[in-house]
Amino acid sequence: LLEQIPAALPDNTFVLIEAFKADTEKKKVNLSPGIYRDDNAKTWVLPSVKKAREILQADPHLNHDISPQMGYPDLVSVARQITFGDTLSSPSITSMQTIAGTGANYLIARFLTYVAQPKTVWLSNPTWENHPKIWRHTNPVIEQRLYPYYDYKTSTLDIEGMISTMKEQASRGDVIVLQACAHNPTGLDPSREQWEAIANVCEEKGLFPILDSAYQGFATGDIDNDGWVLRHFATRSNGAIEFAVAQSFSKNFGLYGERIGALHVVTRNHDTAAKVEATLKQISRAEITSTPGFGAKVVATIVQTPELRKQWQQDLNTMSGRLRDMRKRLHDELTKRDTPGNWGHLLTDLTLSYEKIGMFSMTGLSQEQVTILKDMFHVYLLPTGRLSFTGSHDSFGAWYCMAELDLGPY
Ligand code: PLP
Repeated sequence: LLEQIPAALPDNTFVLIEAFKADTEKKKVNLSPGIYRDDNAKTWVLPSVKKAREILQADPHLNHDISPQMGYPDLVSVARQITFGDTLSSPSITSMQTIAGTGANYLIARFLTYVAQPKTVWLSNPTWENHPKIWRHTNPVIEQRLYPYYDYKTSTLDIEGMISTMKEQASRGDVIVLQACAHNPTGLDPSREQWEAIANVCEEKGLFPILDSAYQGFATGDIDNDGWVLRHFATRSNGAIEFAVAQSFSKNFGLYGERIGALHVVTRNHDTAAKVEATLKQISRAEITSTPGFGAKVVATIVQTPELRKQWQQDLNTMSGRLRDMRKRLHDELTKRDTPGNWGHLLTDLTLSYEKIGMFSMTGLSQEQVTILKDMFHVYLLPTGRLSFTGSHDSFGAWYCMAELDLGPY
């Protein structure tokens, strides 16, 4: 039975994690994973999370009971509040706890496949490398198409290409996956005007957008600012667009291993929302029965305890601020060393636009250059040339080597 299984390709991210672990070079640097590290290249435990853990563990009533089918209720309620703000408690929205952001993406793909059999799903070019995999596994027959997003020549957002492709080539009922903020892997987000234009096309063409929200608070440090597009879609002329939000708490709470997230499905009325809920319960029962409890309690405790919420805001400022510093530092080191190319796209300028933020940037390095960087200098990037800014500061010595070897990307 099993001998005929076709060979399956390993996952790039996990291959690199293992290769990095096995590398015995002391100065090795891992710039591949989307996991926030501190200056010592250690995964950061947020002070707000530490305090919430202490509170929970001191509670004699803390138990390990199973959560209701829609998830731990307090988590679901804070997930909605973070996503849509205090004002939007619409009965036409169905919210469910999920196995982190991956689980939310997976669940909505399963759900749409089951209820609507969409013919095409549109993904940004480039996108998070798991999006195509999630859709391939949940819906092997759906056509996956890419919409233009990143202009590789100018390192800018190709908004015209994106809009015209959607207008000319997408059809009613197609699904489009958008990223709410701090786009992975490019670090480029549309401005508010551009988001409005994107929402207009979704509405006009009758597309079903999935707003993948894995980095809310990571971009500008401000949950409301980073969540602007989620609220914009939700409040547009009374449910003009049906859509979903796939939310992750892995990054903005540093809870990578706890697998906490949520799925929100925005419908036009309460009756539809009730049917969505019933179907989500069915799928979730067959897949996982119930969601993880402890991490959900950590998130809910932080958001619902004023003092911890304040601390969380500081933690978000620490993370987003450090990422901006890292961007500037890398930019300055590269330019100081006359590394070939133009590196302005690495810099964040919050006063000018909504762009160039978060954990990632495309370096423009080819796969071959990425391999040389790994083999000769023990610096690890994804094969696409995506760089995660959360490696240690020391790492940027590697760019000096790049300049010396004239391996500049342009
Ligand atoms: N969506 C995007 C765009 C991501 O970059 C990630 C993680 O890297 C996720 C979703 C899933 O995050 P998780 O499943 O770790 O919560």
